[in-house]
Amino acid sequence: MIIQTNIDLHKYSTFGLRAKAKYIATITKESEFSELSDFIADVDAPILSLGGGSNVLFCADYPGVIVKNDLKGITRQSNGLIRCGAGTKLDDIVSFSITNQLYGLEPLSFIPGTIGGAIALNAGAYGTTISQWLDTLRVYDVESREFITLSRKDLTYWHRSSILRKQRGSKWIIVDVLLGLAELPVTSNHPKVPSDLHGQSLREEIKILRSHLPDPAQIQNAGSFFLNPIVTDQRANKILKDHPGCAMRKYDSKHFQLASGWLIEKAGLKGKVIDDFLISNSHANIVINQNPRATGQDVKRFVEKVNTYISEMFGIYIEPEPLLIGAIL
Ligand SMILES: Cc1cc2nc3c(=O)[nH]c(=O)nc-3n(C[C@H](O)[C@H](O)[C@H](O)COP(=O)(O)OP(=O)(O)OC[C@H]3O[C@@H](n4cnc5c(N)ncnc54)[C@H](O)[C@@H]3O)c2cc1C
Repeated sequence: MIIQTNIDLHKYSTFGLRAKAKYIATITKESEFSELSDFIADVDAPILSLGGGSNVLFCADYPGVIVKNDLKGITRQSNGLIRCGAGTKLDDIVSFSITNQLYGLEPLSFIPGTIGGAIALNAGAYGTTISQWLDTLRVYDVESREFITLSRKDLTYWHRSSILRKQRGSKWIIVDVLLGLAELPVTSNHPKVPSDLHGQSLREEIKILRSHLPDPAQIQNAGSFFLNPIVTDQRANKILKDHPGCAMRKYDSKHFQLASGWLIEKAGLKGKVIDDFLISNSHANIVINQNPRATGQDVKRFVEKVNTYISEMFGIYIEPEPLLIGAIL
């Protein structure tokens, strides 16, 4: 296990804020987990598990141990099962599945980050979520020092979240994941995905569909920046009356979910730069950090400024979607 101290976190999150971590512990072998438990007991500090950092904003210095589980690798087992180390890139797993004539993951092509991060927050795109293909996963319990096998229901998934994301991988660190993929092509019923495509041709179609998204390796961003807000029926009806055409969908019997991108665009913010943060011209819910020295305080000011427009026009508040480390709001 490698322990680094007082580390700049700029390159550990695709949004690239300035902050430091007291410790970063990198695991490259399963045998190192017990060493990690010893270290954590010694320093008596909080833990945060980190994958590719494409859904995390470091808004303040982190006073504890950031655990990077770098266990990588994909092995094919029988009956469409594949085992993947938690630090493996999700997109490498999609590619592997296609090469091995296994199906189901193609709509998740080109989502940045690791399978560990994807499992923690149930990454999804074009009508598919990773949890649909989850068989079981193994986690390391930092306190009891045991390896535990969990199933989908143990993670209590809700929209882009689970108990693993809620506890930030502080108790259970994902070690590896067993996916159960289809051995025959899967027909998509998503309106944007042609139902006759699968395998490599579907992956190429997804590449085109995602071409408006900036590459986080080149351009600092965290994908969708604001959560799609959920409002009551009454509020939705009022917004629809004032703004016919507002993008929304029924959420449950009493609520509607609105599209943040639509609200931001309607408020005239698409393509605008607010305090060094560019609201993308190609999708109004993508925010690009143009300041290599931006901090959590800058993000706080930006979120407040966007919300002065949104609340004045629609009477609601929109919240950031990525996990904010170091409360700022
Ligand atoms: C350009 C762009 C496009 C994107 N498109 C999509 C999209 O289409 N769909 C989508 O769902 N998301 C999308 N995202 C968001 C993000 O890439 C994904 O959600 C991704 O799955 C996060 O993985 P990660 O490894 O970066 O996780 P991180 O951001 O590192 O972590 C996310 C969460 O997982 C936890 N975690 C990570 N690893 C472990 C582990 N080993 N054990 C326990 N907990 C762990 C962390 O504590 C944190 O709570 C996009 C992001 C960008 C920048």
